[in-house]
Amino acid sequence: MSVERALSGSPLPSAVETAAAVRAGHRSAVEVLGERLERITADEDRVHAFNLVTAERARAAAESVDARVAAGEDPGPLAGVPVAVKDNLCTQGVATTCSSRILAGWEPPYDATVVDRLQRAGAVVVGKTNLDEFAMGSSTEHSATGPTRNPHDLSRVPGGSSGGSAAAVAAGFAPIALGSDTGGSIRQPAALCGVVGVKPTYGLVSRLGLVAFGSSLDQVGPFAATVADAAVVCEVVGGHDPGDSTSLPGAFPSVVEHLDDGVDGLRVGLVTEMLGDGIAGDVAARVRAAAEALAAAGATVEEVSVPAVAYGLSAYYLVAPAEASSNLARYDGVRYGVRVDAPTAGEMMEASRTAGFGDEVKRRIMLGTYALSAGYYDAFYGKALRVRTLIRADFDAAYERFDVLVSPTSPTTAFAFGDKTADPLQMYLNDVCTIPTNLAGHPAASVPFGVGDDGLPVGVQVMAPALGEVAMFRTAAVLEASAGAS
Ligand code: GLN
Repeated sequence: MSVERALSGSPLPSAVETAAAVRAGHRSAVEVLGERLERITADEDRVHAFNLVTAERARAAAESVDARVAAGEDPGPLAGVPVAVKDNLCTQGVATTCSSRILAGWEPPYDATVVDRLQRAGAVVVGKTNLDEFAMGSSTEHSATGPTRNPHDLSRVPGGSSGGSAAAVAAGFAPIALGSDTGGSIRQPAALCGVVGVKPTYGLVSRLGLVAFGSSLDQVGPFAATVADAAVVCEVVGGHDPGDSTSLPGAFPSVVEHLDDGVDGLRVGLVTEMLGDGIAGDVAARVRAAAEALAAAGATVEEVSVPAVAYGLSAYYLVAPAEASSNLARYDGVRYGVRVDAPTAGEMMEASRTAGFGDEVKRRIMLGTYALSAGYYDAFYGKALRVRTLIRADFDAAYERFDVLVSPTSPTTAFAFGDKTADPLQMYLNDVCTIPTNLAGHPAASVPFGVGDDGLPVGVQVMAPALGEVAMFRTAAVLEASAGAS
């Protein structure tokens, strides 16, 4: 079942194909870039995937890749591959706004580790992508630069918060993009835009240079048109970084070499709690079709209950805002971006924060500050942490019997602009299936698996235990191969 885009143009080569052609000298990085910039010129006005397109810098980077090939050097596994970078990842000397007014005019003095590693592998950064302000949201409607539109249907949201990165890949602006995922911000937009999205195990990918939202939950990961491209990006950007105190030792698991291993003998659990109330019937039907496809490929598939995931959303909306309220205290009008002058320092800070932050960010800061305040700490934040432990324990029990767990990524396909902005809880419910893995620190991927009743993409989520990336990618590859047939 193929998914139509609302935009013109046929699919362009994958990152793996592009890098192979550039490394072999069959295509130049400049030509590859030109092809993508053409798409951006044709369609970006309608999509608004980017806060900034860095065409000149990209051209210079592509030229240097070509010069290295000409000199007989190997620029690396992503030679000449254009990449779009979420605008909450630091890029040296290039504006990084988090789609917030408060960071207007700020240019980071360094590259995020993930951006640095991409560039060292030969990738060419084409621009900074739109997001919900500070990555808080599920639709990009909370962006100070205006919403991104879904390339499959311009009247629908692309999901969020990394909606710009998902739309950039879906629109063909770049074969790969980076996003961040605190509660679903890579997987949910990937599902709504019909592309692959991966949130790795917490600690496998450096957070150095990722603007912090919920530090115990945040993880960087790729968007791609294919599972193989996502796997290559994970290996390139992942692995230990001494600059991130929560970084795990060692390299990213070798996922690329296992992509063709299949799922014969793999034990797959279908999470009962994620197929019932609140999940649209057409989405649930696609997930069941995905389970059948895995069974047909040799996996054993059974339903499994992971009871505590039912409390994931409640726990997340205490833990994440609590961490955000602390992380966002640094935007005080003194060191970054917007400053509104006032007679005293205190009044200056209050006026700057009032003018610089949008409504959703203010809501999160208030929620988090309340949950952490004396007298409420144990009842709210402390209790949420205990629920987090229960969720981890229930997942651990499930992973004694299963190698991977499968569920919908998002309860519905892409929704219309304005549908969920009036009621924050309706917006939060988008992440009911993705949030539990963040609380547990586990990896999860979203893989496109056909369309819903409205003809829009459906994503299937593949979850795995900590460092279970190999089984997760094997499952994702089989789903990708069978999506067209079932
Ligand atoms: N939508 C969730 C939120 O608003 C998750 C965001 C994210 O993963 N960055 O918090």
